[in-house]
Amino acid sequence: MLNLYNTLTRKKEEFVPLNEKKVTMYSCGPTVYSYAHIGNMRTYIFMDLLRRVLKYDGFKIKGVMNITDVGHLQSDADEGEDKMEKAAKKEKKTPWEIAEYYTNVFFDDLQKLNIGKPEIIAKATEHIDDMIKYVEKLIELGYAYETSDGIYYDISKFKNYGQLSRLNLDEQIAGARVEVNPEKRNPYDFAVWKKAPKEHIMQWPSPWGMGYPGWHIECSTMSIKYLGQHFDIHTGGVDHIPVHHENEIAQNEAITGKKSVNYWCHGEFMLVNNGKMSKSLGNVYTVSDLEKKGYEPLVYRYFCLNAHYRNKLNFTFEGMDGAKTSYNRLLQQVYAHKNSNAVTDKEVIDGYLNEFREAIDDDLNLPLALGVLWKAVKEPKSKDIYNLAIEMDKVFGLRLDEYKPAPQTLADVPEEVQKLIELRKEAKANKDWANADKYRNEITALGYQIKDTKEGVEVTKI
Ligand code: AMP
Ligand code: ZN
Repeated sequence: MLNLYNTLTRKKEEFVPLNEKKVTMYSCGPTVYSYAHIGNMRTYIFMDLLRRVLKYDGFKIKGVMNITDVGHLQSDADEGEDKMEKAAKKEKKTPWEIAEYYTNVFFDDLQKLNIGKPEIIAKATEHIDDMIKYVEKLIELGYAYETSDGIYYDISKFKNYGQLSRLNLDEQIAGARVEVNPEKRNPYDFAVWKKAPKEHIMQWPSPWGMGYPGWHIECSTMSIKYLGQHFDIHTGGVDHIPVHHENEIAQNEAITGKKSVNYWCHGEFMLVNNGKMSKSLGNVYTVSDLEKKGYEPLVYRYFCLNAHYRNKLNFTFEGMDGAKTSYNRLLQQVYAHKNSNAVTDKEVIDGYLNEFREAIDDDLNLPLALGVLWKAVKEPKSKDIYNLAIEMDKVFGLRLDEYKPAPQTLADVPEEVQKLIELRKEAKANKDWANADKYRNEITALGYQIKDTKEGVEVTKI
């Protein structure tokens, strides 16, 4: 039985899907005006772990992730320049070229980190007509109004505004420093559609002239379109709780007249040296930066698995070095079981599997689940333990089955083994197959595996 922490109720709840076998899940995707950093990727690793746990528990998933390739203004308060356009000007490319480039890099990063792509990837620019329909509907229902620069959602019309973040709006407004647009009815009203100035490159015709959508309406439109008015899970990072997701709820519930999402699941932030990642501090790292510094992307995945997704995780290079050592050791220890003919009692294996499932079903306690794997690999060598590790890896996604130790040069191998290799070579030359096999077994017993290749014998440590 899977339990998930629901931000809406602030409780761990048993997960009961609306449709028994097909879970509907929406994940806020990247804004593709720049490279995604490792903090962003932590949130997508969390999404991936949730998808893997659901699959492990026998569910099928219809997952949707958006690609924000338009808008997403500089701040959540909808002020400022369009990030896509700003990047386009800087890089002397069209916003479409910028979006395509960074979307592809994002997909490469997903692949490198072994993050499964959701079933449906929805680009905002391909859903403009649907968004316009929802904006019209919001106006029709009295939830949105027109100003000189756009269409705004009137939050005073939605009595449950603030339910997800438990905001006390009156207090917030009293202390707010946001520059109040005099045409807005309430300071926290947000744009669902912006009228475009002439020089704005990305713009579409609408009943309110040329313009472009607000960021929040993208996610509402695409989630309803693909998952229906009421769906199971919505994921994102914790920074999205107070504005973006609050606004999504306000829009969805106004449009459909009912509750839209059953489980709101949020991943905590990644910090760097206990602080915020920021360009000005020069501590914004991408997956490629880590590779350049000698860390395999999966070392970062392993690093993330060591913290619960609802705890802040502090990124340091010392921490990454620790993760690198542990991950490599884990790969070797799992591999050491692979070629064993010995067996492990079924009871022992089942015991580990139960512990593992209990951990992952308890709101994705991956650090605990990883501890179970570490305990298991310390058992005497057996193929059953190898198979168990590979089974657990359906959730960890650490590509444990792809590990192959690097072949060693003969000089690194103990003399005893070198002698046996030589003896085997002679036996083979004399077509003395019985002895050749005998020497091979002796080599295996000493912990080495040999393979005949065109270039000669390849030796690896088992
Ligand atoms: P954005 O492209 O800014 O919408 O961010 C993409 C995703 O990354 C969102 O789900 C954010 O909540 C998440 N995110 C942003 N910064 C961090 C961070 N430092 N740690 C973890 N997740 C983050
Ligand atoms: Zn979103």
